[in-house]
Amino acid sequence: MWQAPEPLLFEMSSPGRTACSLPELDVPETPLPEGMVRDEVNLPEISELELVRHYTRLSQKNFSIDTHFYPLGSCTMKYNPKVNETAAAMQGFARSHPLQPRWLAQGNLGLMYQLQEALKEIAGFAGVSLQPAAGAHGEFAGVLIMRAYHLDRGDTKRTKMLIPDSAHGTNPASVAMSGFEAVQLPSDERGNVDLAALKAACDDTVVGLMLTNPNTLGLFEEQIEEVTATIHNCGGLVYGDGANLNALMGVARPGDLGFDVMHFNLHKTFTTPHGGGGPGSGPVGVTEQLAPFLPGPIAARGDDDYKLVMPEKSIGRLKAFNGNFGVLIRALTYIAMLGDEGLRDVTFNAVLNANYLKARLENVYPVKYGRTCMHEFVAMGDIAEGVHTMDIAKRLIDYGFHPPTVYFPLIVHEALMIEPTETESKETLDAFVDALLKIAEEGKQNADLLHNAPHTTPVTRLDEVSAARKPVLCYRG
Ligand SMILES: *Cc1c(COP(=O)(O)O)cnc(C)c1O
Repeated sequence: MWQAPEPLLFEMSSPGRTACSLPELDVPETPLPEGMVRDEVNLPEISELELVRHYTRLSQKNFSIDTHFYPLGSCTMKYNPKVNETAAAMQGFARSHPLQPRWLAQGNLGLMYQLQEALKEIAGFAGVSLQPAAGAHGEFAGVLIMRAYHLDRGDTKRTKMLIPDSAHGTNPASVAMSGFEAVQLPSDERGNVDLAALKAACDDTVVGLMLTNPNTLGLFEEQIEEVTATIHNCGGLVYGDGANLNALMGVARPGDLGFDVMHFNLHKTFTTPHGGGGPGSGPVGVTEQLAPFLPGPIAARGDDDYKLVMPEKSIGRLKAFNGNFGVLIRALTYIAMLGDEGLRDVTFNAVLNANYLKARLENVYPVKYGRTCMHEFVAMGDIAEGVHTMDIAKRLIDYGFHPPTVYFPLIVHEALMIEPTETESKETLDAFVDALLKIAEEGKQNADLLHNAPHTTPVTRLDEVSAARKPVLCYRG
């Protein structure tokens, strides 16, 4: 639907209008000191109604999980239950301050403690820190923990981190930021880590392996126990990228599979509105031997209350105060509402929904590895002459769907990475498949229709090269 371009508040301004009025002055008027008075403040003058309409219209220009299906592979855009928001807005939480004395912060500390305990149980770890502010931040914490562990043993030779070629780009970035070298491992023809290449790369210079399981192809590592044992045999540690925990929780625990340290993406697996750089939370979980190195402070139980403690050999603080507390509230609410059986059902339904989509689509959109997938799968979008994944993605917008993740992972040609999540109905999944099948027909008959898509949005296909090279950063050029 075409919408008029939204004006700026400044353009809507009319002298004398106001959205709020202050009470009458009941103290004597005092002039501001010399030199501190601005002649022209130049703020928009606007009524409350116009202001509300402006922001409501702006909010509707965006795709969101509350308005549209959002099958973004890897990043898990699932429905965010409103009860989470109610809990996060409770005055005791929302109005608390991190510098409150311990006796006044018992509710908050207790919440942190309970969440740590829940995450430990879900993933099979001995310790958890809630400090990191996102998945990538958790990776950085995890790699620093691995480094601290090796150095504490006086082992200074280890500099290499092994990373499969299907990994998320944040993995090598975290390794580089920690001063180590990232060494890429190939995948085998079934989409697993190539075991022979892994064995060949293992020696006493290896810090460890960073592994996503299920990996970003949506495939479970079939030899996971052999993979983790191989790394342990050469003295290395196994890092788990936990972004895909929503395909395992309640069914298998990374700690039991041989992972030594893992980050959780609370804002993916355990809901919270995210995207666009909003606050996230990337706690790290570790085994017993790594627990002394966790970033702190972490919540602990005292004799008869909760307190914050710094682990004995902690890598230190990574974030002001106690992490992104609002996200912690939402995650614990979600876990408590679902309980253990509910979390397991999330996993079952996420996997079922992904396999349903895959089964309905794979004759038209080929899937490289012909295996049962976990919570997501990667198809290929070059389904007709001159048609690319980007065209499919843009055309989906015209049908009211947010495009899946595109061109990732890098090892699949024209990748279209689809993750429906467990929160969608069969009707929504069918409508999405129907749209994709229709788009494939359109692509065969009239590829230009796809090349120029989207057609129904306020701005249509953008020149992405110019957008990157010559960005227009001011409202008026
Ligand atoms: C999202 C994601 C990350 C990074 O997490 P952020 O919370 O976005 O920093 C890392 N690895 C994988 C596989 C992911 O999907």
